[in-house]
Amino acid sequence: MRKTLIVGNWKMHLNTMQASILLHRLQERIRIHRDIEVVLAPSMLVLQPLSLQIDRRKFRLAAQNAYHKDMGAFTGEVSFTMLRDLVHYAIIGHSERRLIFGETLTDISEKVAAAVRNGITPILCVGETKTDRLAKHTKRVLHDQVVTALKNLTSEDVEEIVIAYEPIWAISTFGGELATPNLVKEAMDYIRHQISELYGKKTAEKVRVLYGGSVDDQIARGYMEIDGCDGVLVGGASTSYHKFSGIVDAAYRMQRELGEET
Ligand code: PEP
Repeated sequence: MRKTLIVGNWKMHLNTMQASILLHRLQERIRIHRDIEVVLAPSMLVLQPLSLQIDRRKFRLAAQNAYHKDMGAFTGEVSFTMLRDLVHYAIIGHSERRLIFGETLTDISEKVAAAVRNGITPILCVGETKTDRLAKHTKRVLHDQVVTALKNLTSEDVEEIVIAYEPIWAISTFGGELATPNLVKEAMDYIRHQISELYGKKTAEKVRVLYGGSVDDQIARGYMEIDGCDGVLVGGASTSYHKFSGIVDAAYRMQRELGEET
């Protein structure tokens, strides 16, 4: 069984004090659940202090980005090697990195390889723009993003990774339109199908696929119920204590109901 994953991407919000207060409140509210993993992705600055405060039975940490070289004269950068004892996951290929910072398919595949080399699990974000969708290029875009990002990995590596389907037009930063569950399912099925074609069915069944795009506590369950969806990547709503803990509660309720059914 694939564990449900709820990831909070705090983006460039919350200073050290604010981050510590939010973690403290979440820690009080969120319970340990063996089938649900809750991951927090604070800013780079805040990772170190949070790593000392965090209850590792309840949360894991993720970096929002890192540089693909392990060390060297790269002013302003932090490598995956430097993060390896601090984080379990790293978000790679987020649409804000692709669109605002111009990260290319090659940059992203180098980052995925560097994360894996350093024992950090990539949360690879993929998704089409509105223009791609209207031109019916969604599958082609997803295919190119998935294939290039994973090209340096073995099927054993791929089994461990997480892919977040985040249509760019649904991310709050870029419009925040709500994607219908049917549309999300179609894209997620396609991503898993691609993995199956490239790395085999067994690998495709192990990869966790998340949804991300303006998810909050009111609508999270609708996405988490999609067959093949293993959780959500939450941006804006993740810095709200009420909204984020509400999303985790929705995952608990789903698991409980599933348990009662079986
Ligand atoms: C994200 O940052 O990955 C994201 C999905 O953002 P938001 O929830 O704000 O749309």
